[in-house]
Amino acid sequence: MAAIPEHFTAEEKEAITTELDRRALVRPQHDNDSERIREAAQRKVALEASNQTDADEYAECLYELGDIEAALALVRNVRKKELWGERLEAILRPDEPCCNGPKHLIRRQLSPRHGGLTPVVQCLACGTVNVTNK
Ligand SMILES: [Zn+2]
Repeated sequence: MAAIPEHFTAEEKEAITTELDRRALVRPQHDNDSERIREAAQRKVALEASNQTDADEYAECLYELGDIEAALALVRNVRKKELWGERLEAILRPDEPCCNGPKHLIRRQLSPRHGGLTPVVQCLACGTVNVTNK
């Protein structure tokens, strides 16, 4: 870890160290999200090249790339259809917190409505899932 400059107070250094630890913890998750989307983009191109654009695999690529409505129209797998429908609802849900309950980060999702990779959070108090930057 880079040394923290000496002009910070002990409290500031502790806050910075805590923040750096937090970032180290969340980074792998974020990298997974970016990696998953990169793979989906590559898979989508390959499927288009082989004209396999009616497969559930293609729908999955559309889903990962944030085109959830098109993915829902295409997917045959009932469980995925249900899950993606719920995720679309979460994306469209108002960004304001449901309640004061603690929130758990499930993953990040490409959301055109939010303009990019956006946290998918579940409230541990009321169970509401929301896609929100707030
Ligand atoms: Zn809640």
